[in-house]
Amino acid sequence: MRLQIRLVLALSFVLAFAPLPASAETPRLPVVASFSILADFARQIGGDKVEVKALVGPNGDVHVYEPSPADAQSLSTAKLIVVNGLHLEGWMARLIAASGARAPVVVATRGITPRQGEKGVDPHAWQSIANARLYVANILAGLIAVDPTDADYFRARAKNYDAALDATEKDVRATIAAIPPQARKIITTHDAFGYFAAAYGFEFIAPQGFSTESEPSARQVAALIAQIRRERAPAVFLENISDPRLMERIAQESGAKIGGELFSDSLSQPNGPAATYIAMMKHNIIELKKALAPSN
Ligand SMILES: [Zn+2]
Repeated sequence: MRLQIRLVLALSFVLAFAPLPASAETPRLPVVASFSILADFARQIGGDKVEVKALVGPNGDVHVYEPSPADAQSLSTAKLIVVNGLHLEGWMARLIAASGARAPVVVATRGITPRQGEKGVDPHAWQSIANARLYVANILAGLIAVDPTDADYFRARAKNYDAALDATEKDVRATIAAIPPQARKIITTHDAFGYFAAAYGFEFIAPQGFSTESEPSARQVAALIAQIRRERAPAVFLENISDPRLMERIAQESGAKIGGELFSDSLSQPNGPAATYIAMMKHNIIELKKALAPSN
């Protein structure tokens, strides 16, 4: 009798805690994001309810991407599509139309105040963490709209992630405080850090425009070298998506040092230093501090 009770207890324990067989799992919601940073946001919120694919993967350049037939295939079976907007992915609208995709499209920058530059609208809004929190709110609304039964799950994950973003922004500000104000200058290849600079009090200079499509002219490069010398900027930075040679030449000719690699428009591989958006923001601020406040 006692053995029987024990057996029943043991069995009910096993049933309660054993994972469900694979066939009983509900299929994950297919989500397609235009590039790796948006894909990370969607994964953070969607957890194991979603299967997220990034069209432009780690270290890829979203500005000059050439879509493949496999990308159209992914879009045609997606239940939700996430894009940045602000003219970042010029190739995306045509690709969505050509794929016959019917999924709703979340424009993750909806509600963000765009930065206007001399060369048009700056699409790199994710480089401000306050903006990233708006991205998350937009993607959360998109996920709930296509999968309302999992709304509570998505909301709980988004809330946790939002708190992690808030904590990351506090870390970033605390690290910046250790960099002397006159050294708070970011010099990189293309105009990717305008929102970052505006949010966190940096001066930002890049020879190339908002897109990596056009090469800077010899005159622009010469003007930048003169400016670095004049302002005694201590360092220039490489970008994970850009050819390092331009900045190496500028460093050599201006006397500034190479201050490490910043992640601008895409994440690293999963085993790299910027596998997620939060890891990317932490990596970038540590690289900035190492080069601009070396004594700290
Ligand atoms: Zn860019």
